[in-house]
Amino acid sequence: MNRLIGAAQTIVFAVYCYYVIQYLKGCSKTGVGEGQTPSGADAVYNPLARGQPKLASNSYLDKRFPARDLEQIGKENATMVMLVRNFELDGALSSMRSLEDRFNREYKYPWVFLNDEPFDAEFIEKTSLMASGKTFYELVPAQDWQPPSYINKTRLDENLINSRASVLYGGVRSYRNMCHFNSGFFYKQKRLLNYDWYFRVEPDVEYMCDFQYDPFELLRVNNKVYGFVIAIREYENTIPTLWQTVESFMQEFPHLLHQNNAIDFLTTNETSLHHFVQLRPSSTKYNLCHFWSNFEIGNLNFFRGEAYETYFQYLSKAGGFHYERWGDAPVHSIGLSLLADKHQIHHFDDIGYYHAPFLSCPHSEEILASKRCICQPRAAPVNVTIDVNTHSCLARWWRHGGGKRFLNEI
Ligand code: GDP
Ligand code: MN
Repeated sequence: MNRLIGAAQTIVFAVYCYYVIQYLKGCSKTGVGEGQTPSGADAVYNPLARGQPKLASNSYLDKRFPARDLEQIGKENATMVMLVRNFELDGALSSMRSLEDRFNREYKYPWVFLNDEPFDAEFIEKTSLMASGKTFYELVPAQDWQPPSYINKTRLDENLINSRASVLYGGVRSYRNMCHFNSGFFYKQKRLLNYDWYFRVEPDVEYMCDFQYDPFELLRVNNKVYGFVIAIREYENTIPTLWQTVESFMQEFPHLLHQNNAIDFLTTNETSLHHFVQLRPSSTKYNLCHFWSNFEIGNLNFFRGEAYETYFQYLSKAGGFHYERWGDAPVHSIGLSLLADKHQIHHFDDIGYYHAPFLSCPHSEEILASKRCICQPRAAPVNVTIDVNTHSCLARWWRHGGGKRFLNEI
């Protein structure tokens, strides 16, 4: 009897094992199948094949993930671009996750990562896995990052010390290099010469709505050179002499100014607004309005053109990137407002975007619902939602810049 029970137990166990094995085989076919997994060996190591140090070829990733199709679907000659440091990896992944889910996984545009130091293996591996398209990792040449030879080092050092407490990022040397680079060098990086369009992405930002269209295509088809989401006012003590430098540039190069420029956007000053927000009126004509450049979708050829290059060189030689703390946002914005047709600058009012401390969320209920936005324009504290906040320059843009356009008539 005992023997019979023993034999039955053995049979039951064998049948059980058979089904477990069959089940596991099934899993390997369907559970981690092609198209669902983040990457394959090619995808992971693509960037490494372009001159980066190779990771061990028997990495667990080789075994776990079948090859992924990185072929670009979007039709524009465009790329995402992120200037970032290795220690910002988590923030970079978070921004990428958001933008991939909301936009890029449908198009698979590439990602170009820029850094003044070499990217490390972990950064390369994890960002490659997060991207739906190809990834490129570029070291910024020292001459594009460090202060130019005409900058007086002592004067720079003194200003770094003197503005440490009073100016936002005033004591941070690398921040000045970053702003100078973003103002005049990112679009000249060798890898970016291959492209016409860029989408600037920063670590730790979030895109709150589905895009549901290709913003590069929208800009190209509508003959735009630049798109922004948030427009606000700059801290005046970062740019004490910027506007006077711009004024002398305008006097010396009047032929470079566009006939239909947006200078009124930069210089109108409704006094009631100053009164309301209790800001000190600017000591110059410049009202401190600028497009917030941590979000930008733009045409690289505009920046590479003669007008912007002349403008940038003029500002760089004046020294304010280093002797003061000029930001790339006002520099880009003033350049665009003066040198482009104001109707070539587009406000994306259907893109929800968050970069601390400001959120911009579409106001139309229809957009919020159909684009699956996760943000509430009216519920957030007033100093967080920026669009109609008193710090915002959007109303000024509508009235004195490119105007307010509605989605169905751009
Ligand atoms: P904020 O947005 O003005 O507060 O400045 P961030 O710290 O976000 O810097 C702006 C962008 O430049 C981000 O994409 C940063 O990752 C990048 N960045 C800032 N400083 C450096 C730097 O020294 N090296 C590199 N590679 N990137 C930098
Ligand atoms: Mn930032």
